Amino acid sequence: MMAMCSKKAYLKRRSVDNKYDVDTNIFQVKFDCLKDNIVKIHQGDPVMCQQCETVLNKHSKIQEDVQNQQFGKQLWICEFCNHKNYVQIEKEEIPTNEDTIYLIQSAQEQQMQIEDADNSIIFCIDNSGSMSSTVEIKGKINFKHGISAEEYEMLKQFIEPGDEHQIWPQFNTKHVTHVSRKQCVMAAIEQQIGELKKKNPNKIVGLVTFNNEVVVYGDGSEVPITIAGDRLFKQDEIENLLDGTAKQLMKYPVKAQAETLLKKFEKLQEKGQTALGPALISALQLAKIGKPGSMIIICTDGLANLGLGSLDNDANKQFYEDLGAFASQCGVVISVVTIKGEGCKVDILGALSEKTNGTVTRVRPEDIEKDFANILKDELVGTQVQLFVNLHRALKFRGEDDPTLSNKLKRDIGNATIATTQTFEYQLKNDQELQKEQIDIKDLKNVPFQIKVNYTNLHGDRLMRVVTQLVSTTENVKEAEEEAQVEVIHKRMAQKTAQIAKKGNYQEAQSYNDQWDGYVQKNAVINNNVSNKEKNFSFQAHNLKLQTAVQKQEVRKEKVQKPPPQQQSQQQQPSFFEKVASFIKGDEKKQQQAQIPEPSQQKASIQQQDSPQLQKRVNPVKQNVEKCKAQNMQLEKEMNRKRSLSCSDDEDAEMADLFQFEQGKY
Ligand SMILES: [Zn+2]
Repeated sequence: MMAMCSKKAYLKRRSVDNKYDVDTNIFQVKFDCLKDNIVKIHQGDPVMCQQCETVLNKHSKIQEDVQNQQFGKQLWICEFCNHKNYVQIEKEEIPTNEDTIYLIQSAQEQQMQIEDADNSIIFCIDNSGSMSSTVEIKGKINFKHGISAEEYEMLKQFIEPGDEHQIWPQFNTKHVTHVSRKQCVMAAIEQQIGELKKKNPNKIVGLVTFNNEVVVYGDGSEVPITIAGDRLFKQDEIENLLDGTAKQLMKYPVKAQAETLLKKFEKLQEKGQTALGPALISALQLAKIGKPGSMIIICTDGLANLGLGSLDNDANKQFYEDLGAFASQCGVVISVVTIKGEGCKVDILGALSEKTNGTVTRVRPEDIEKDFANILKDELVGTQVQLFVNLHRALKFRGEDDPTLSNKLKRDIGNATIATTQTFEYQLKNDQELQKEQIDIKDLKNVPFQIKVNYTNLHGDRLMRVVTQLVSTTENVKEAEEEAQVEVIHKRMAQKTAQIAKKGNYQEAQSYNDQWDGYVQKNAVINNNVSNKEKNFSFQAHNLKLQTAVQKQEVRKEKVQKPPPQQQSQQQQPSFFEKVASFIKGDEKKQQQAQIPEPSQQKASIQQQDSPQLQKRVNPVKQNVEKCKAQNMQLEKEMNRKRSLSCSDDEDAEMADLFQFEQGKY
C-alpha cells in the first residue's frame, strides 16, 4: 500500500528550504489493496497519540509507567511526536503487523441498507448528428452496425461520384474501411457487453442517449423515457421523473438484456444537438441505485450545447463540478471518453472524472473499444476515502501547496479505484527548525512513516487501514540512491508536473519536470541498476507526451494573451456533409461542382411523371428529401457553432493527457 522510493531516508542538512530539491525522498500510496481482505480486522479500537493522532502500531514501544504518574496505565512515548501517552492496552491488542485494519462502524450499525442488486454500468452515449461522420480505417473490417437501407436511400441523392464509400459499406475496399463514429461506439459497447455477460453476468447495464433530447433506456426492458424541450433545462424535473422509475428501468442483468439493448441503440439515428448535461443527470439517477461502485461512461464527440450544462460559455463549469461531487458521494465513478475531431472542452468535463476518480480520455473512433475495456478494468475499491499521512517530527513534506504544512497531512480522495495513486515528497527540517525542536539527527537511526486510510468498503462498512513503516536513515545521498526504485520517482514527477500545469503554471511545470527528468535519467548511482535503467528508458516516451502537453498549453496561453495581428482563415476541402449542406442552401457554384441537379429540375422531372404507380414510388423519396434537408440544415448549424468554438489543434487531447498524468494513469 505504501511504497518508499528508497529503503533509506536521506537526511540532508540545510539552513534554508528548497521546495524543488531532487532526491529519493519520495513515497507513493496505492489503494488497490483496499479490495483484498487478506488483512484481517484487528480486534479492539485504534489507540491514538493525543498530540499527533498517530495510531499505536507494531513499532510503538510500550513501557511500564515506572514513575506511576497514571496508576494502572502504561506509557507510550509517541515515536512520531515524542508525546507521552498513558494508555491501557492488553498485550494482544498491540498490532503485530505493519498493516492493520480497524472496523469503525459496520454497515449494520450505520443502518445502511445496501441493496442486493449488483452495481451497474451506464453507457451515456452521444447520438448527435456529428456521430455519423466517418473515418478511414486501414484494412477491410466488417462492421455489423452499418448504415440502414433507409438511411442510404435518404443520403444517396447527395453523393458525389467517388464518395459512395462514405455511406455505402460495399464501397469499402480491402485497403480501407469507412466507419462512422457511432459504429465504433456500438462495436465497443457490444464488445464490453459480451465480456460482462461472461465475467459479470449479473451486472446491470443501462443505456442513456442524447442529442436534442435525452432518451433513458435503462436495461432496455421498459418503454424508454424521453426528456425533451423545456425539461432539458430543469434538473429537479429530470430527477423527479427518474426518481420513481429508475428501479423499473434497471431491473434485469446483462445476461438477459444484452441483445435487446444493443438493438435499441442500433436503430437510433444520429441527429441534432448535444444535450450532454441533462443526459448526465439522468444517468446518475440510474447509477446511484444499487451498491456503490457503479460506473458511468460518457462518450461524446462534440460540445455540450443544449439544456443544462451547456458549454457554449464557461459559466457552467460549476454544474459539472457539483455533479461530480454528488456522484462521488453516491460512490459512482464517471469516466469521460471524448472522440477526436471536435472540441468538447475536456478541461471542464474532466471535473466529473477528477471528482469521482474516473478516467478522461481523448481517442480516435477506432480506439474506443480498447478505451472502454481499460476504463471498465479500473474498478472502485472504496468510497469516501480520506488519507492521513504522518511523518516523524524531524521531517516535513516538500512541494505541497500549503507552505505552512509540516509533518502531518490529510487528503480527501473520495472514490478510490484500483489505479488510484497518491505521491509525496519529504525532507529533513531545516537547521533552525531542528534546533527549535531539540532534535539531533545523530540520534535518528531510523524514522517511522504512517498512513491512515478511512474508507467505506463496497459492503457499506466504515473501516480504517493503518500502515506503519520504519525506514533507516542516511546522510550519504548515494546510499539512498543505491536503493532507489525509479518508478516511484516517475509517478511523482508525472503527477506533480500535471498538477502544476493544470493550474495554468506551465513554465513552473516545465522547470519542475526538467529538473526531475535530468536527475532520474542522468544520476549515475540510480542508473547503475539495470532494472532502473530500463524503466527510465520506457518512461521517456510517457514523459515526452507529458512535456508536449505542457508546452502546447503554454504556447496556447501565450497566443490567447497576444493574439496575432491578422487572423488567416484556413481554406479546407469541404467535407461530404458540408457539400450536402451547401447544396440544400442553394449555393450554385458548389452544386455545379457536386454535379447534382438543382432541386427545381428535380421537381420538374417528378411533375412530368403521370403514372400513379410511379407517383407512389416517388412520394416517399420526396418526403425523404424534405426530411434530409431539415436534418442537414440542423447539422450545418451545429457544425458552424462547433467550428467557431473548437481550437485550431486539439487542446482537448492535451487536457485529457494532463488529467491522466495527474491521476498517475499512464
Ligand atoms: Zn504523537
